[in-house]
Amino acid sequence: MNFATHTFDQFQLSQPMRAALRAAGYQAPTPIQAGTIAPALAGRDVIGAAQTGTGKTAAFLIPTIERLRSMRQHGDHTAALILAPTRELAEQTHSWTQRLGADLRAALVVGGVAYGPQLAALRNRPAVLIATPGRLVDHIERGATALQDIRILILDEADRMLDMGFKPQLDRIMRALPTPRQTLLFSATMAADLSTLTRLHLRDPARVAVGRQAVPPKRTVQDVYLVEQQSKMPLLLSLIERNRGNVLVFTRTKHRTDRVARTVRQAGHAVQRLHADRSQSQRREALEGFRDGRYRILIATDIAARGIDVAGIGRVINYDLPHTVEDYVHRVGRTARAEARGHATSFATPEEGAQLQAIERHLGSVLPRQSHDLRRLAS
Ligand code: AMP
Repeated sequence: MNFATHTFDQFQLSQPMRAALRAAGYQAPTPIQAGTIAPALAGRDVIGAAQTGTGKTAAFLIPTIERLRSMRQHGDHTAALILAPTRELAEQTHSWTQRLGADLRAALVVGGVAYGPQLAALRNRPAVLIATPGRLVDHIERGATALQDIRILILDEADRMLDMGFKPQLDRIMRALPTPRQTLLFSATMAADLSTLTRLHLRDPARVAVGRQAVPPKRTVQDVYLVEQQSKMPLLLSLIERNRGNVLVFTRTKHRTDRVARTVRQAGHAVQRLHADRSQSQRREALEGFRDGRYRILIATDIAARGIDVAGIGRVINYDLPHTVEDYVHRVGRTARAEARGHATSFATPEEGAQLQAIERHLGSVLPRQSHDLRRLAS
């Protein structure tokens, strides 16, 4: 699929940026990129309404990196701050910053890892600082970070940061930032508390929305199996065996993630787990292993999976339906990223009927029912 009539040429990007985009295999801007790059390059504030999977990371990185390059004659200082709700998202944004802006120093400041290396990275005066709000506030309180030269602030997944209770930390960080500055805010939804934030901190923002918000990409195949609780595991194993590609499985709780992973492993599959009780290095190892194919199956909870950016996830399976429609959309968005096709399958027990109905109401359509032969599964 090509993204309509836009090309990257229209933005008059620098030679290194054009080369980096070519190396990443980005041929044309996605709709959110087509809408945000020009105003952001011109130095305007931007509100981008876009879910993960739309190309929003590059939508803010391309103009930010370009502007930083032109500012660099003003000396070495930290001039851009990117705030993200989770370590995983921050890590992925960090690695894209390195890919698209190889000549810029970027530092990552997230929770769950030692302070020492982060302090060293901060002292090194990175051009771009990518952080989760909690750990950045820790550094501010310790007097370890200098934010007085920030010219560009990016709030990525702002709605999720507020959902996760980061409002006090965001307020604290905003107080430490100089004005005037450019602010780029990205969010899948526009909740009421977000409009307070934008009213207070953004100046005459360009508003860019892509498509209907919070609906999975059309090219994702979605379906559902109506099952009893005890059939979920045999059904999962059968789907894993029939599916040759990688599979991302969502469960409701950390405990269920552990249990499902154990059984899938006993059945002989290369599987890893991702949830909030695992250490930072375990989570990184799980994600990297899933990305490079060492683990074909990844079992995850919603919070831990926020922002997972793995190209080519063939199949998402909702072993349990999520609590909210937003989480459903987010999970399904892990497959069919950018231009790929994907397949998302849900299991729903009679007890999960109300959740299924809410999801279908939101999607405006009934998910196709798949049938399974329980006797065959049991044998
Ligand atoms: P994001 O919404 O930033 O998480 O991006 C979703 C996926 O789309 C990532 O795997 C990106 O590498 C990819 N992507 C972003 N921009 C483009 C583009 N212009 N062309 C093709 N793929 C892209």
